[in-house]
Amino acid sequence: MKTIGLFGGTFDPIHLGHLQAAAEVRRRARLDRILFIPSYLPPHKKTGAAASAADRLRMVELACRRRAGFEASAIEVEAREKSYSILTLRKLRALSPEARLFFILGVDAFLDIGTWREYHRVIEECYFIVMGRPGFDLDRARDVLAGGLKDAVGPLPTGGAAAGPLPPHIRVFLVPIRALDISSTGIRARVRRGLSVDGLVPKPVAAYIRDHELYRGR
Ligand code: ATP
Ligand code: MG
Repeated sequence: MKTIGLFGGTFDPIHLGHLQAAAEVRRRARLDRILFIPSYLPPHKKTGAAASAADRLRMVELACRRRAGFEASAIEVEAREKSYSILTLRKLRALSPEARLFFILGVDAFLDIGTWREYHRVIEECYFIVMGRPGFDLDRARDVLAGGLKDAVGPLPTGGAAAGPLPPHIRVFLVPIRALDISSTGIRARVRRGLSVDGLVPKPVAAYIRDHELYRGR
């Protein structure tokens, strides 16, 4: 049984917090690979991204290069429309019908799941791995789900292999990790102030930000 993690985000820009969290989850759950899926956000939207979808995708590609088991996916960027997880999931499912799919996200992002289109369906159609993030209590993931779904939250089985037998009622696996206190917001603020982002993003990503003069103005 193949196992694939789907790690979506704005990735504006991708940073070592994302990469170290994904690496730890991949090791713990023994996932075959993780797809990093930058979202397409329409330009000129107030809450949109600071860098273009093309730049965010390129930085994800640079970060995944030479990291075994990590791949950049252009599926949302190329769709050029608001990215709904349910649609992305169905497209990826069609591409890998045999695989077990796991949506990976930090607990801060999971707390917003009530705003996702058809989130009940997403939980029915694939597994979730919710990982810790500094400042957020992992157990709050249970609180945001509607009544019946609260019982669908639990730890990874001992041994941890995502390819092995999973408890039949669990759809959302809570995975505590040693998350780094790094955010894209913090990185953009540093660049704006002319500070170095060394040690916060992979070297090729730091060079890309510099060469393309990203994040200078906002
Ligand atoms: P921003 O500050 O712009 O919101 P971010 O650092 O939160 O950026 P996102 O692209 O919003 O990054 O996050 C994508 C996914 O990665 C989310 O599921 C988020 O919870 C997770 N994530 C981001 N940073 C970390 C981190 N340091 N540790 C663990 N998970 C993280
Ligand atoms: Mg975020």
